[in-house]
Amino acid sequence: MGLIVQKFGGTSVADSEKIKNVANAVIKEKLNGNDVVVVVSAMGHTTDNLIKLSKEITHHPQEREMDMLMSTGELISMSLLAMAINEKGYKAISLNGRQAGIQTENCHMCARIVNIDTKRIKECLNNGYIVVVAGFQGYCDNNEITTLGRGGSDTTAVALAGALKAQRCDIYSDVEGVYTTDPRVVQTAQKLKTISYEEMLELARVGANVLHPRSVETAKLYQIPMRVRSAFKLDDLGTLIIGVENMELNKPVTGLASDSSQIRIVICDVEDSPGNAAKLFDLLAGKNISVDMIIQSYARNMKKTNDIAFTISIDDYEKFNATKDEIMHIIKASNIFVDEDIVKVSIVGAGMIDRPGIAAKMFNTLAQEDINIKMISTSEIKISCLIEKDCAQKATKALAKAFELDGAKVADVKGDLPVL
Ligand code: ASP
Ligand code: MG
Repeated sequence: MGLIVQKFGGTSVADSEKIKNVANAVIKEKLNGNDVVVVVSAMGHTTDNLIKLSKEITHHPQEREMDMLMSTGELISMSLLAMAINEKGYKAISLNGRQAGIQTENCHMCARIVNIDTKRIKECLNNGYIVVVAGFQGYCDNNEITTLGRGGSDTTAVALAGALKAQRCDIYSDVEGVYTTDPRVVQTAQKLKTISYEEMLELARVGANVLHPRSVETAKLYQIPMRVRSAFKLDDLGTLIIGVENMELNKPVTGLASDSSQIRIVICDVEDSPGNAAKLFDLLAGKNISVDMIIQSYARNMKKTNDIAFTISIDDYEKFNATKDEIMHIIKASNIFVDEDIVKVSIVGAGMIDRPGIAAKMFNTLAQEDINIKMISTSEIKISCLIEKDCAQKATKALAKAFELDGAKVADVKGDLPVL
């Protein structure tokens, strides 16, 4: 008998009928002979609505109070699900983040899990209970309530799977798996049978909204196989996320995603001497502004100055604006430009390692569509280009075609798929 951790997203528990449907999916797993721990998100748009409510009161809420507020959403869904399972004749108990032993850093609204004391969960499992845990929340010093950042229930599930040494972590939502690209843009996008942790991590970071990136990091760390599957089609196994060593890398590119949640900042004429980049990014880090792509131009001019361009999340725009004068003063830049008209398109694939010509093919594909590239960044298994917002769909369609992500030929698993 194994242990399976299941996670159900907000749409899967949006109303009482759906909660009863989830109860069936949980019981089905129990009847397979497994112990089951279930993690739930808040019902439907509950978290959004809670945030909206807080904004009706204040635009500057204390982060502690936001955590107190936002953590209530998952308490509703966990208790209702436990009741639904009990009603069907199986033993279930719900636990909030504190009761489930999920300890986090001392920080609000985006805390990381640092430890899970699994004693209580194990006791409940040993007593024959299905354990339903509130996602997205934990506790820190003084029993303060914390949350893990939007979408954090995926991470709760995988972290529990790691701590409990689960056989697998199944993430159920309204999507049927991980697709080569957004099926709303490319209708023929293919559902992947498997994808590696590394590729999924990159895709999650560059805009594929299937999973919380930290959940994939955690799954990779503990080598927990994850499945992304539909809560409404229980027989469909969805996409399995596993180690790259089990993958047949027959295609250079596995997936494609775009992200329109960033803005580009250009700091002009930064003196070309040691320490200036450090000062700039220290300043941003001090304000908790995370930076994604960074490009520094070559100091060709007589003045020996560089332009430094980088991208930040649009959500940090206000914080950045408040820091602008300080940057001008400390870095002695001549000007700062902000460009909101950008979208980042990225191709991801473990198969691009050691395969030359992938970047050239991406740039050529964009050139053929007359799309200008504003910035480029790469990692071992990813190439991202910043382009104008209007071109996002055109670029996605063209790249999906060029890298065969819109046909039947998708990356598959080598030999027999491990039965998980
Ligand atoms: N309810 C939280 C959110 O909407 C956490 C989650 O759904 O994963 O962000
Ligand atoms: Mg959610």
